[in-house]
Amino acid sequence: MPSALNILKEIFGYPVFRGQQAEVIMHLASGGDCLVLMPTGGGKSLCYQIPALLRDGTAIVVSPLIALMQNQVAALHEIGVRAAVLNSSLSQQEAVVVEQKLQCGEYDLLYVAPERLLTARFLNLIARIPVALFAIDEAHCVSQWGHDFRPEYIQLSVLHERFPKVPRIALTATADMDTRKEIIERLGLNTARVFVSSFDRPNIRYQIIDKTNSRTQLLSFIQAEHQGDAGIVYCLSRKKVDETATWLVNQGVRAVAYHAGMSMQQRSINQEKFLREESIVMVATIAFGMGIDKPDVRFVAHLDLPKSIEGYYQETGRAGRDGQAANAWMVYGLGDVIQQRRMIEESEAQLKFKQVATRKLEAMLSLCETTTCRRSRLLSYFGEADTTPCGNCDTCINPPQVWDATIEVQKALSCVYRTGQNFGAGHLIDVLRGNLTERVQQWHHDRISTFGIGKDLPEKAWRAVFRQIVALGLLTTDSEGHGALYLTEASRAVLKGQQTVHLRLQTKLRKSSEKRLDDVALLDSAERYLWEQLRMWRAKTAKEHGVPAYVIFHDTTLHELVRLCPKTEDELRQVTGIGVRKFDKYGDHLMEILRSS
Ligand code: ADP
Ligand code: ZN
Repeated sequence: MPSALNILKEIFGYPVFRGQQAEVIMHLASGGDCLVLMPTGGGKSLCYQIPALLRDGTAIVVSPLIALMQNQVAALHEIGVRAAVLNSSLSQQEAVVVEQKLQCGEYDLLYVAPERLLTARFLNLIARIPVALFAIDEAHCVSQWGHDFRPEYIQLSVLHERFPKVPRIALTATADMDTRKEIIERLGLNTARVFVSSFDRPNIRYQIIDKTNSRTQLLSFIQAEHQGDAGIVYCLSRKKVDETATWLVNQGVRAVAYHAGMSMQQRSINQEKFLREESIVMVATIAFGMGIDKPDVRFVAHLDLPKSIEGYYQETGRAGRDGQAANAWMVYGLGDVIQQRRMIEESEAQLKFKQVATRKLEAMLSLCETTTCRRSRLLSYFGEADTTPCGNCDTCINPPQVWDATIEVQKALSCVYRTGQNFGAGHLIDVLRGNLTERVQQWHHDRISTFGIGKDLPEKAWRAVFRQIVALGLLTTDSEGHGALYLTEASRAVLKGQQTVHLRLQTKLRKSSEKRLDDVALLDSAERYLWEQLRMWRAKTAKEHGVPAYVIFHDTTLHELVRLCPKTEDELRQVTGIGVRKFDKYGDHLMEILRSS
């Protein structure tokens, strides 16, 4: 019998296991149940794909998304593994063929949609064949409180009842404890071993910067760091998604849009384009993303503040699944704080829900305003207590300074008070800076004591002060939606001089283009030429095969080819991602390209 490591090397073309993969594989292959919690890109698929090859019979993989299944199967075919899908994308006839082949033992893996799996017909069918294991992917879909809830997932407990001897593996990238408990309970995994990996994504660089004009900031970010890269841009509203996508296209960026207000057909065309072609920027609401396993998403940008750290982490986690450098970039400003607070305030939900939502927003805001390592903050939020600065986030690379802003904050707060707690930041700043605007005159705010007391601070700095004091909860907004700010209980101590306030100093961000992330920028011109040759060949080959480019080879493999520039076939075999099958198929082409450049 081949060993797990042999399969990893020969079939998948990878030299070593990652993290807990080896342990999970041994456990499952020897018949044990398990729950695997690994971050996105951690390598969950191998945890059941290798046991599927080690054990007799067919592995049944339950997955909630059709596009995802198809790409997984396409990737397995590329490396010569016998796999198929069974879901609503097949015609009746095609489905019958798959079922017949399944009965003849022609598959190592079968990917099935949950609703199909749960039919009496299918359950009876698999009762007659040897089943290697059940893999339940995206297992957090059983959670009724999560936003990915799928009612059919709850019924998956039937698998254990009907097939008590077949080992099960449930997998998810959702980190929180409640979801974990719910999965164990609902899927009857009480005796299963739980494998928890660190949720750190070291290759992702976190950056949260001041919002001035989100669109132009986004464009300069893309131009400086991500020309020709695939990325996802998240916006809060459908309207903003449409506008941003159109605007990017006009600026020469290949962008497409995705939100729940679009027709199903248009959505799937855009999603497919994003998955299959290279260098597409997807502008979307958070309706987009679950189960998107495109490995080479080089950046995730947020133009609006997410509601919670969970959301932020899940969304940013879609960047850099291949382990190569990627950016999680966000712009954030006063308007975001006000908007999110108002949305909670105005929602019809119960008080309890509002309290939870407020707490989550507060945690998100403190991540934005932190002066210490963002990654440490994120990980400690998920219960991982490592406080070593990571060196790969904006606060580590360019540590923000703090200043004692007590006096300025007092000025701002008393200006709010003197103007009757009726105005937004823009007007308050005019009063503080002594600008004689029409509005100031109309309200006679040039006659109050706070008029002009903040002349020494430029407008931009005042905006940052207001943003931070709203984030800190010293000011809050009305629920009428005018953006008027008023004092909170917490502001009293500051006004009375009993509490000092330290704020983040807005330093000029080091131009990130000075330090481009990926290896490509470091290549000399000959290497760059080879890289482009390889990319062109990969695009052409992917097109011929009707699969996404990354199914042929990941960027990781192309980078290694450029770096090592193998001269012999033996050297070529050593490259990450080149297993036996891919070597046979593409070895000659690659050698040809390598020799000619
Ligand atoms: P997840 O489902 O956990 O998000 P995947 O299973 O899609 O992650 O794996 C992420 C990427 O990492 C895939 O492209 C996969 O081929 C690659 N990968 C997984 N395990 C290894 C390994 N041991 N060595 C190198 N690459 C790996
Ligand atoms: Zn850091």
